[in-house]
Amino acid sequence: MALLEVEDLTVQFYTDDGVVRAVDGISYEIRAGETVGLVGESGAGKSVASLALLRLIRSPGEIVGGQIRFDGRNLLECTDRELRDLRGNDIAMVFQDADAALNPVYTVGEQIAEAVRAHGDVTDAEARDRAIALLERVGIPEPATRYADYPHEFSGGMQQRVVIAMALACDPALLVCDEPTTGLDVTVQAGILELLAELARESDTAIQLVTHDLGIVAELCDRVLVQYAGEIVERAPVEELYYDPKHPYTVGLLASIPRLGADSDRLATVPGPTPSLVDPPTGCRFHPRCPYAEPACARRHPPLVETDSETPAADDDPGAHLAACLEYTGDLEDGLDYEVLVRNETDGESHERERERTERGEPE
Ligand code: SF4
Repeated sequence: MALLEVEDLTVQFYTDDGVVRAVDGISYEIRAGETVGLVGESGAGKSVASLALLRLIRSPGEIVGGQIRFDGRNLLECTDRELRDLRGNDIAMVFQDADAALNPVYTVGEQIAEAVRAHGDVTDAEARDRAIALLERVGIPEPATRYADYPHEFSGGMQQRVVIAMALACDPALLVCDEPTTGLDVTVQAGILELLAELARESDTAIQLVTHDLGIVAELCDRVLVQYAGEIVERAPVEELYYDPKHPYTVGLLASIPRLGADSDRLATVPGPTPSLVDPPTGCRFHPRCPYAEPACARRHPPLVETDSETPAADDDPGAHLAACLEYTGDLEDGLDYEVLVRNETDGESHERERERTERGEPE
């Protein structure tokens, strides 16, 4: 059974320019111990979807529809007190900006101990011991000594580790990480990712990882949800998404990952600007940027459907590969030219794909 079930979640913001549908009817599930990546460009609504999980959307935003069930309870029907209990105890968040998440006038140890006390009936000595154990858990050397240090005495990477320690204070069942390594240099980033991977391996903690970086998703996640203009446009197990992407937007995102040894000295990008969420494009929202768009794409809104009709999967099958493109509803006249789709990536990568497809015995 799923730990988290999000169904038809819709979040709007009321602005001077009109109503922004930042999250528009998304549905997904996360099982215990599973790491799921939510990826897309800036402005796709990934962070808003994550904040909505804990009802942290503030005015002028509002959750206007859908359900969020955690362990069988609908979070949208919880009282404020019930929600406070859930936050930290069952679901914890790690935000991008560790510096802003820490209070500069308290030591890092006191802040972790406070998180322990806030969610459990423990003595001060027990809270301190637990805080030191958590500092050690997240890889801070000499934790008993560093307990008494202030946030400014920690580097950016160390601060992020402290924030993760606070989030783990009460062994949450679900950890929501919103761009947890953005702004950190690559070495520090690798350390934080290794820490999260270790957590996922060694505990039953489920992780929802929000990022614009598909490289990070490849390292950490079991499954991937690709979000575009407020909607989920592709969902697949991580390896399948990388080796057999089905949605043209995902192909574009994959092509924009920098690769060592790529023939071209130019970095590929998804062409065109991200659309306005006040007045999104009709039909498929990706159609103004899609190199395969046909007239039907501007008229019909593609549902998220199973991409392999020969082996249909139940909607709640975590192994299912779904995409929102008219190709998979049979409404595209010419059909996606898969060869061209894959060649849009770097040449070396496309040849690798062709070779793999040939090995699998698939037609050209
Ligand atoms: S429905 Fe049309 S515009 Fe949208 S992704 Fe598919 S081919 Fe491109």
